[in-house]
Amino acid sequence: MPASRPVSGVLGLRRCAATRCGRAAGTRARLCTPCRDGLATLLTDLPGLYTAVEHARTPGTPMTPRIAEARSATRGVLASWAHVVVGARAVPRPVRSVAELAGFLHRHVDWLSAHPAVAEIVTEIGGLAAGLRDACRAPRADELAA
Ligand SMILES: [Zn+2]
Repeated sequence: MPASRPVSGVLGLRRCAATRCGRAAGTRARLCTPCRDGLATLLTDLPGLYTAVEHARTPGTPMTPRIAEARSATRGVLASWAHVVVGARAVPRPVRSVAELAGFLHRHVDWLSAHPAVAEIVTEIGGLAAGLRDACRAPRADELAA
Protein backbone atom coordinates (compact mmCIF):
# COMPACT_ATOMS: atom_id res chain seq x y z
CA MET A 1 0.00 0.00 0.00
CA PRO A 2 1.83 3.11 -1.19
CA ALA A 3 0.18 5.42 1.37
CA SER A 4 1.84 3.65 4.29
CA ARG A 5 5.27 2.78 2.92
CA PRO A 6 7.89 4.07 5.33
CA VAL A 7 10.39 6.77 4.51
CA SER A 8 13.64 4.82 4.31
CA GLY A 9 15.53 4.74 7.55
CA VAL A 10 13.12 6.90 9.51
CA LEU A 11 10.92 5.03 11.90
CA GLY A 12 7.36 6.18 12.39
CA LEU A 13 7.24 8.40 9.31
CA ARG A 14 5.64 7.64 6.00
CA ARG A 15 5.57 9.42 2.69
CA CYS A 16 2.82 11.83 1.73
CA ALA A 17 0.05 9.94 -0.05
CA ALA A 18 -0.47 12.62 -2.71
CA THR A 19 0.59 11.53 -6.18
CA ARG A 20 4.05 12.82 -7.19
CA CYS A 21 4.75 14.41 -3.78
CA GLY A 22 7.33 12.31 -1.96
CA ARG A 23 7.67 14.52 1.14
CA ALA A 24 7.22 12.96 4.59
CA ALA A 25 3.64 12.90 5.83
CA GLY A 26 2.67 14.83 8.94
CA THR A 27 2.13 13.19 12.32
CA ARG A 28 -1.11 11.18 12.29
CA ALA A 29 -1.71 12.23 8.67
CA ARG A 30 -1.17 10.68 5.29
CA LEU A 31 -0.43 14.04 3.69
CA CYS A 32 2.50 16.38 4.19
CA THR A 33 1.60 19.87 5.45
CA PRO A 34 1.81 21.59 2.01
CA CYS A 35 -0.49 18.95 0.44
CA ARG A 36 -2.93 19.19 3.37
CA ASP A 37 -2.95 22.98 3.02
CA GLY A 38 -3.35 22.63 -0.75
CA LEU A 39 -6.41 20.43 -0.25
CA ALA A 40 -7.84 22.98 2.20
CA THR A 41 -7.23 25.78 -0.31
CA LEU A 42 -8.92 23.81 -3.10
CA LEU A 43 -11.97 23.27 -0.89
CA THR A 44 -12.03 27.01 -0.14
CA ASP A 45 -11.74 27.89 -3.84
CA LEU A 46 -14.27 25.41 -5.27
CA PRO A 47 -17.50 27.30 -4.48
CA GLY A 48 -16.11 30.44 -6.14
CA LEU A 49 -15.00 28.49 -9.20
CA TYR A 50 -18.39 26.78 -9.34
CA THR A 51 -20.11 30.18 -9.37
CA ALA A 52 -17.54 31.74 -11.72
CA VAL A 53 -18.14 29.11 -14.37
CA GLU A 54 -21.82 30.05 -14.42
CA HIS A 55 -20.94 33.72 -14.98
CA ALA A 56 -18.16 32.94 -17.47
CA ARG A 57 -20.50 32.08 -20.30
CA THR A 58 -21.89 34.81 -22.52
CA PRO A 59 -25.40 35.79 -21.36
CA GLY A 60 -28.04 34.19 -23.52
CA THR A 61 -25.81 31.35 -24.70
CA PRO A 62 -26.61 27.81 -23.64
CA MET A 63 -24.53 26.03 -21.00
CA THR A 64 -21.94 23.96 -22.88
CA PRO A 65 -21.59 20.27 -22.04
CA ARG A 66 -18.15 21.07 -20.60
CA ILE A 67 -19.65 23.53 -18.11
CA ALA A 68 -22.56 21.24 -17.25
CA GLU A 69 -20.22 18.27 -16.72
CA ALA A 70 -17.77 20.24 -14.57
CA ARG A 71 -20.58 21.52 -12.36
CA SER A 72 -22.26 18.13 -12.10
CA ALA A 73 -18.96 16.40 -11.24
CA THR A 74 -18.29 19.01 -8.54
CA ARG A 75 -21.65 18.40 -6.87
CA GLY A 76 -21.31 14.61 -7.14
CA VAL A 77 -17.72 14.26 -5.90
CA LEU A 78 -18.18 16.67 -2.97
CA ALA A 79 -21.41 14.92 -1.95
CA SER A 80 -19.81 11.48 -2.09
CA TRP A 81 -16.87 12.49 0.15
CA ALA A 82 -19.23 14.31 2.51
CA HIS A 83 -21.19 11.05 2.68
CA VAL A 84 -17.99 9.22 3.70
CA VAL A 85 -17.34 11.76 6.48
CA VAL A 86 -20.95 11.66 7.73
CA GLY A 87 -20.89 7.85 7.79
CA ALA A 88 -17.57 7.57 9.59
CA ARG A 89 -17.83 10.48 12.03
CA ALA A 90 -21.56 10.42 12.82
CA VAL A 91 -21.89 14.16 12.19
CA PRO A 92 -24.98 15.86 10.71
CA ARG A 93 -25.25 15.73 6.92
CA PRO A 94 -24.53 19.13 5.25
CA VAL A 95 -26.98 20.83 2.91
CA ARG A 96 -26.35 19.53 -0.62
CA SER A 97 -25.03 22.76 -2.14
CA VAL A 98 -21.48 23.16 -3.40
CA ALA A 99 -20.74 25.93 -0.88
CA GLU A 100 -22.05 23.89 2.06
CA LEU A 101 -20.43 20.63 0.94
CA ALA A 102 -17.03 22.26 0.34
CA GLY A 103 -17.24 24.10 3.68
CA PHE A 104 -18.16 20.86 5.42
CA LEU A 105 -15.20 19.00 3.88
CA HIS A 106 -12.92 21.93 4.72
CA ARG A 107 -13.90 21.64 8.40
CA HIS A 108 -12.95 17.94 8.24
CA VAL A 109 -9.75 18.42 6.21
CA ASP A 110 -7.47 17.08 8.96
CA TRP A 111 -9.60 13.95 9.27
CA LEU A 112 -9.57 13.58 5.47
CA SER A 113 -5.75 14.01 5.50
CA ALA A 114 -5.52 10.87 7.64
CA HIS A 115 -8.05 8.85 5.57
CA PRO A 116 -6.68 5.77 3.73
CA ALA A 117 -8.22 7.08 0.48
CA VAL A 118 -6.72 10.57 0.80
CA ALA A 119 -4.70 10.20 -2.41
CA GLU A 120 -7.98 9.68 -4.26
CA ILE A 121 -9.53 12.65 -2.44
CA VAL A 122 -6.65 14.95 -3.44
CA THR A 123 -6.75 13.75 -7.06
CA GLU A 124 -10.52 14.08 -7.36
CA ILE A 125 -10.80 17.50 -5.68
CA GLY A 126 -7.85 18.75 -7.76
CA GLY A 127 -9.58 17.41 -10.87
CA LEU A 128 -12.76 19.30 -10.01
CA ALA A 129 -10.89 22.59 -9.68
CA ALA A 130 -9.06 21.96 -12.97
CA GLY A 131 -12.33 21.05 -14.70
CA LEU A 132 -14.07 24.20 -13.45
CA ARG A 133 -11.11 26.40 -14.43
CA ASP A 134 -11.12 24.81 -17.88
CA ALA A 135 -14.87 25.33 -18.22
CA CYS A 136 -14.42 29.05 -17.34
CA ARG A 137 -12.44 29.52 -20.54
CA ALA A 138 -14.27 30.59 -23.69
CA PRO A 139 -16.17 27.74 -25.33
CA ARG A 140 -14.45 26.00 -28.20
CA ALA A 141 -15.82 26.47 -31.70
CA ASP A 142 -17.12 22.90 -31.82
CA GLU A 143 -19.06 23.51 -28.60
CA LEU A 144 -20.70 26.67 -30.01
CA ALA A 145 -21.62 24.87 -33.22
CA ALA A 146 -23.37 22.06 -31.34
ZN1 LIG B 1 2.60 16.02 -0.02
